Amino acid sequence: MRWLLTIMTVPVAAWLLTQTAEPVLRLALVTLVLELVVAAVALRSPDRQRSASVVAVLTVAAVALTGSWIGANSAEVTWFGSQVGHVGRDRREVALTFDDGPNVSATLAIARILEAHHTKGTFFSVGKAVNRRPDITRALAADGHLIGNHSYHHDSTHWLDPRYLELGKAQRAIGDRVGVCPAFFRAPHGQHTPFMAAVVRHHHMVMVGWDVSSSDWSSHDAAALARRILARSRGGSIIDLHDGLDGKRTVDRTVLLGALPLILDGLEARGLRPVRLDVLLRRPGYVAGCTARRRVQTRAAANGMAPRSMAASVRLVRDR
Ligand SMILES: [Zn+2]
Repeated sequence: MRWLLTIMTVPVAAWLLTQTAEPVLRLALVTLVLELVVAAVALRSPDRQRSASVVAVLTVAAVALTGSWIGANSAEVTWFGSQVGHVGRDRREVALTFDDGPNVSATLAIARILEAHHTKGTFFSVGKAVNRRPDITRALAADGHLIGNHSYHHDSTHWLDPRYLELGKAQRAIGDRVGVCPAFFRAPHGQHTPFMAAVVRHHHMVMVGWDVSSSDWSSHDAAALARRILARSRGGSIIDLHDGLDGKRTVDRTVLLGALPLILDGLEARGLRPVRLDVLLRRPGYVAGCTARRRVQTRAAANGMAPRSMAASVRLVRDR
């Protein structure tokens, strides 16, 4: 039985090698494959069975842990929780997505750059920041940009909570303050679990990752950042950029403001048209209600507006 488990783990570890580009993880998996083979051979030898059993059990556990880590931390894999990383490569459209805002200095400046290029973006907003500066997110929504849910606190621990209350809390913040109920959720740092995916489904939402990212939060060279993003962008790409950082509202995003016009010009030169995520995914960008249970009750709800926030959203539109 132990021998069978050990030998069956070899193809699993080999398959995991295809699921990550991280050199450290790939090296670890190659080492684990070799260990599994050695343990399997040793398990066939009567005088080495005891020590081989210990090695085999520990190695199988290490493969399981490595697999869970890869599944949870990759923005593209779907076997650890359903999410979209890109659409068909035959499409000539991409989606520009901006995480971690609203940001006092950058978010509306980014929106202005997008509008100057006659396009709209998708802003995965952090609930706590929306609560502090709802006017910024309201202005985005009123100008036709799409609002997504990017958790309430954007911290490093809540993703491990199987209940994942962060999703509902952020939905309520965005619904109450902005008057829309996002259909798309992006996990902070891309870290997700099957439990989180179930909560997303329960809210009738879709988890969205990305296939193009270039650490724009730590870059200082706008031209180099634009080159890296363009080099990785293909038809159907979901491009991950940051108008904020972890929901902090005052971080300096000058580098992105410099890179974005270059990215937009480069995409156009490649014949790739930036569109909102709902256009790229061909599904509604807002759901009927901001809680898990509430389905369509009114025409406003059917349009993705939180019923109790209707007056604010109507007022916003009228003010424009
Ligand atoms: Zn984020």
